Amino acid sequence: MNIHLSEISEGHYGHTLIFRKIAITLHFDSKCQTGKMSISDGDIKLLWGRAAGICSNPTCQLDLTKILTQSDNYIVGEMAHVIAKSENGPRGISGGGSDSYENLILLCPTCHRHIDKSPMGTYTVEQLHEWKQSHESSIRAKNRELKFSSINELKTEITRLLLENNMLWTDWGPQSQIAREDPGSNSFNIWNLRKLDTIIPNNQKIINMIESNKSLLDSAEYEVFLQFKNHATSFEEHQYNRLDNYPIFPQSFSEIFKA
Ligand SMILES: [Zn+2]
Repeated sequence: MNIHLSEISEGHYGHTLIFRKIAITLHFDSKCQTGKMSISDGDIKLLWGRAAGICSNPTCQLDLTKILTQSDNYIVGEMAHVIAKSENGPRGISGGGSDSYENLILLCPTCHRHIDKSPMGTYTVEQLHEWKQSHESSIRAKNRELKFSSINELKTEITRLLLENNMLWTDWGPQSQIAREDPGSNSFNIWNLRKLDTIIPNNQKIINMIESNKSLLDSAEYEVFLQFKNHATSFEEHQYNRLDNYPIFPQSFSEIFKA
């Protein structure tokens, strides 16, 4: 797993998603006030990826991919329990809440602390589920509302997103200079985070934009788009449930949709 899960100084408030520059093999060792917590790799990825690394509080929406600490750790977000693991914790119930994706919400450290320190009833279980659901839905739907008057306008927007994806691949991917020259660097961790919080959402934006403007495409362009969509959906699935094989990025897509 590529993400180190550690405990913040306040302990019982937070389970902070941290990765260390020095870490190569990362592991879970977080404790909460009731003992060990065990969030699966898959659930961490789902939570981070579906929220695109953004705080789920609708009035905050802090981009957690940009938070850096003064130490050698990058704090990338906090997985907050909707129902506390402890019966006596925030929104606690008899038996306590689980460590599963369904009972977690991605928040920035400030929102996490504020929400869990507020008087009981200020933030309900239903409200936090609603925040999470609507935040994840809005990430999925991004750019769906964009209407273009020409194929070239559409291609310009697609090209920008492909450039960002390509830049991340070049800078941090397995073939990047830093990964090849220093296999012990943190590039592997950064690459794994950027796939989830930027590349997959960018792919979804491209799919949404094309599907909302498909009357601008001829049949050859649409066919290449379907190849890209097939790649993008399989690539996403591969991050959460490792596939033996998936269609690689079709180069014809970047050639045809280049502005
Ligand atoms: Zn926040």
